[in-house]
Amino acid sequence: MNNVDVTLNKREQKMAPTVVCAESQALHQDFCPTSLVFELVPAVSYSLGINDNNVVEQKKEQSGNGNGRKEVAPSQNMHTPCCLDIKEPEANDELTGKTEAYMKVVLARYTQRWLERTKHHLGYQINMDYNYDDLDRLQRFSFNNCGDPFIEGNYGVHSRDFEVGVLDWFARLWEINKGEYWGYVTSGGTEGNLHGLLVGREMFPDGILYASKESHYSVFKAARMYRMSCVKVETLVSGEIDCVDLKASLLKNKDKPAIMNITIGTTVKGAIDDLDLVIQTLEECGFPRNRFYIHCDGALVGLMLPFLNRAPQITFKKPIDSISVSGHKFVGCPMPCGVQMVRREHINYLSSNVEYVASRDVTIMGSRNGHAPIFLWYALSRKGYNGFKKDVQKCLNNARYLKDRLKEAGLSVMLNRLSNTVVFERPQDEDIIRYWQLSCQGNIAHVVVMPNVTIKKLDTFISELVEKRSNWLKDGENQPPCVASDIGKENCVCPLHK
Ligand SMILES: *Cc1c(COP(=O)(O)O)cnc(C)c1O
Repeated sequence: MNNVDVTLNKREQKMAPTVVCAESQALHQDFCPTSLVFELVPAVSYSLGINDNNVVEQKKEQSGNGNGRKEVAPSQNMHTPCCLDIKEPEANDELTGKTEAYMKVVLARYTQRWLERTKHHLGYQINMDYNYDDLDRLQRFSFNNCGDPFIEGNYGVHSRDFEVGVLDWFARLWEINKGEYWGYVTSGGTEGNLHGLLVGREMFPDGILYASKESHYSVFKAARMYRMSCVKVETLVSGEIDCVDLKASLLKNKDKPAIMNITIGTTVKGAIDDLDLVIQTLEECGFPRNRFYIHCDGALVGLMLPFLNRAPQITFKKPIDSISVSGHKFVGCPMPCGVQMVRREHINYLSSNVEYVASRDVTIMGSRNGHAPIFLWYALSRKGYNGFKKDVQKCLNNARYLKDRLKEAGLSVMLNRLSNTVVFERPQDEDIIRYWQLSCQGNIAHVVVMPNVTIKKLDTFISELVEKRSNWLKDGENQPPCVASDIGKENCVCPLHK
């Protein structure tokens, strides 16, 4: 048991003892990890899986390859010795209770770590503000929604009623009648994209996929998996699709149908592709309605736009064909999940009957998580449209607050309209990136202001960042990086653009 490896790094050690109980009460009322005996397991150092050498390597590669894409250092993929070995229980284990005690301590230590990491998270699109305690007891059920949610199969332990309830809620949101849509609860935004683009490909086997170069990587993965020809369209500085470039590509390929991926909130800059302009561009290039398919990737922002006044709307009243969102992003859900919705008449392009499960094979996965629809149903029922409206407003206000403070402090920073993703110059200090779990690309980093990110948390982050930054700039000895090509000259404070 000597290689149990769950001690906190120096900084976490400093934080942990004071924060753990308050937080754990909020998250798990009946479980406070410090009440367990820690001494049972000898402490060995914890590694994040990225040692400092790797970080240096990674940075070198990033600045070197020039396309802003993050390259993963190969050593990160190698098996590290810091893992939780699974040991065979000793013969007399039931008497000594050693294994049980060991497992309890491991879980307690990890819980402490996860609580701390939950508290200091700003960089990814995960809403951590939820409480599903009422659903704790459902863990005993092997829910599985294998097959088509609208066809009752032979497996009885399912949550299809919840799933269809969730889908109907989204159908109202995206303005399509109950009888006119088909959809399902997916394993996340990626599966939604894989499904939407597959429906497009099956409708138009010789179609060309058009996606902006800032589309999510799952879109290009779909293109590879389905062996589709794919055109990467240029983007504006904001991160949205450049319809001038799109037009040029469409005109070059007028003989082939167009399968469009539209991103509603890009991952890095939170940019919203202009759906109306894309539709107009397709028309101008001579693509009639029966020669294009539009999939809207709304992973995060697809659940925010409908609640904003004066926002461009993503709705099935427009000539679009499918929309997907993630469930663990704006809604907040402990397991990854999502929703995919498509016009009902299209789904027959995918379907084939499977006798074994007495259903239709129209999804990407076989077995499907039957817990996720219940979590989504619970969250949507609790919040309602009004709850979402409040959450969205709060996030946009807090994002603006963060952007204004960073700007006042003299940083390069950008915030797109209707976005909760604040993009700024990459901190020159890996500690702060790791501590706050910022996500970075090339010279920029971002904070995604989710409903669990409060002004108080932002204030702490800002003061740490500003202090560190003044240390590395050393009163003008060093200069901040130029980020004009990432976020525009007007937002860049490097010596050239200030
Ligand atoms: C996060 C994201 C996805 C992928 O969603 P997962 O739920 O992580 O699979 C797809 N598209 C965009 C724009 C995203 O931000």
